[in-house]
Amino acid sequence: MSILSKMTGNQYINGKNFDKAILAVGSCENHGFHLPYGTDTFVSAMLSEKVAEEVEGLLVLPPVNVGMSQHYAHFPFTLSLQPETLIAVLKDIMRCVVKNGIKKIFIMNGHDGNIAPIEIAARSIKLEFPEVRIASLDAWWVTAGNLLPPGTFEVWNGLGHAGEGETSIGLALFPELIEMEHARGVVPNLPEHVEIKWNFAELTNTGATGDPSKATAEKGAKMVDVLLKAVVQFIKDMDARDWNYSSEQSAL
Ligand SMILES: [Zn+2]
Repeated sequence: MSILSKMTGNQYINGKNFDKAILAVGSCENHGFHLPYGTDTFVSAMLSEKVAEEVEGLLVLPPVNVGMSQHYAHFPFTLSLQPETLIAVLKDIMRCVVKNGIKKIFIMNGHDGNIAPIEIAARSIKLEFPEVRIASLDAWWVTAGNLLPPGTFEVWNGLGHAGEGETSIGLALFPELIEMEHARGVVPNLPEHVEIKWNFAELTNTGATGDPSKATAEKGAKMVDVLLKAVVQFIKDMDARDWNYSSEQSAL
């Protein structure tokens, strides 16, 4: 048992010695006509729990259920924190973790709008507590596409909000909450090397981008597998060198 919200005080004190914590950061936002509002929270939280089953001493913190989703707010019924609010929430949670003696924090992000707030919050905490180690998987939807062999996905390398990849991982993790008969999206016309700061309604009228109709549970299981392996291996490698990543030539 590594899930803080399900533990008693007795179990925490007498349980494993936790030296690391993992924080899922999700959202509550429209995910097309076919995926649940909690998709980003469910994926990041379920991945976090699976990671904790495979490494020693990793405490699973309660997920942040509402993220920065202002650019998805044109679709009903999206909830959003302001960016500054999410930064403050993340900093407060990380400060509590550090004050409880855990100095290694892994952030499992589930949503694009959280990336910038996570970066700012993590940088602030690192300045405040230089001895703390903070790592983050910012965009599992990109990482999974990079780790899987080319051709795994049929459209847009699986990308998209509620697209082929995200719908596939949902089918692998919480199929009972998905209505595939309503899965439809569009591949947006976006440049390759430059990022446009869009509002999501400018890209699609279905609440989804990419092609969710190509999603399968088999593709999703492969995504879960490569992501788990990558994060578990990262944590084991870092544990083996006590999270010391400074190079031998470092002058500091
Ligand atoms: Zn999502």
